[in-house]
Amino acid sequence: MINSNTSTYLDYNATVPILSKIKKSMLDFMEWGPVNASSVHFYGRKGKNVIERARENIAKLINTKNENIIFTSSATESINLLFSNFDTIIVSSIEHLAVLISSKSDQIIPVDKDGVIDLDYLEILLKKNTKIKKNILISVMWVNNETGVIQPIEDVVKLSKKYGCLVHCDAAQALGKIKVDLEKVDLDFLTLSGHKIGAPSGIGALVNNKNFNLNPQLLGGGQEKGMRAGTENIIGILGFGEAAAMFRAMSEHSNEKVKFLRNYLSDKIKLVSPQTIVFGNDVERVNNTLLIASPDIPGDLALMKLDINSFSVSSGSACSSGKISQSHVLKAMGYDSLASNSIRLSLPPNDIILASDNLITTKELDRLAQCWSNI
Ligand code: PLP
Repeated sequence: MINSNTSTYLDYNATVPILSKIKKSMLDFMEWGPVNASSVHFYGRKGKNVIERARENIAKLINTKNENIIFTSSATESINLLFSNFDTIIVSSIEHLAVLISSKSDQIIPVDKDGVIDLDYLEILLKKNTKIKKNILISVMWVNNETGVIQPIEDVVKLSKKYGCLVHCDAAQALGKIKVDLEKVDLDFLTLSGHKIGAPSGIGALVNNKNFNLNPQLLGGGQEKGMRAGTENIIGILGFGEAAAMFRAMSEHSNEKVKFLRNYLSDKIKLVSPQTIVFGNDVERVNNTLLIASPDIPGDLALMKLDINSFSVSSGSACSSGKISQSHVLKAMGYDSLASNSIRLSLPPNDIILASDNLITTKELDRLAQCWSNI
């Protein structure tokens, strides 16, 4: 039954709704008093404590030291801040636009048909570039936002270290879905985004895991040890810290229900619409993401029809204006003819978040599959 007052939200990779416990903590703090963490008085001290507790919660979630975390406004800002410190950046072809555009790179690691990066080609680029250049950064994402495919990040690190290069990983889509452990993976830099784990948007972090000397982009009052001036977004930082603490308490394996529902939907879609292609099906993928395309269905039409039928999903390739552009990810995977046809269905990152969304049921997923087959 279609209820025009609501829509089944299957776009958790775009943003995770602010978790109610986090909303409450933020509201309580907003009501508590005026806080600028730079003030030396009682209120300022309280603000500083809030920031340091959040820093600690995030550091614990990813196994790094508190002082390695620099709060920014977003993963995008973190990436721009980091990249402004390097002359040459080698990136993969499926990176988020925040990486592709801000790196201005023409040193691109290709991917295969499943969207996994080509490590042999990375080695060719490393050999070529390290012969003639210094100050090289390798940037490969942990989890792709469109396909959900997990990249071999440990291998990227090993290979890059062999050639003396530093490595950055965009972990915006990995945090909360798989274990991000900087004691196991020897990354130099990591970027995170609060709104992908149930904190508000407008808060992110750059993790400077080895405490390298970096130049800031924003200059001014010296906040974040001079790395990011400007009065801190303390409500956002509080929310990010609370979300990190919640995700740490949730077991790594507590996404079996999410996986079951994603696979259920995938199977149903294949059954009612056998021509549909599921991307990244044969490789390691996060459990919540399903990227599909049909040769006969343009993405904008599918998005509109699904929206009319009360499903909020995403085109694999939407740009910020809301218009559908071609997916650079599918093009990089060799699916040029489907690059305007993809639809991304993304469930909550884990079972606990799923439990708070009572609209995602197998019955509703049956209706979605039927709707897809009727477009
Ligand atoms: N990197 C990836 C993989 C993303 O999915 C996103 C957001 O969609 C970003 C970076 C940018 O994050 P933010 O919204 O915090 O700038």
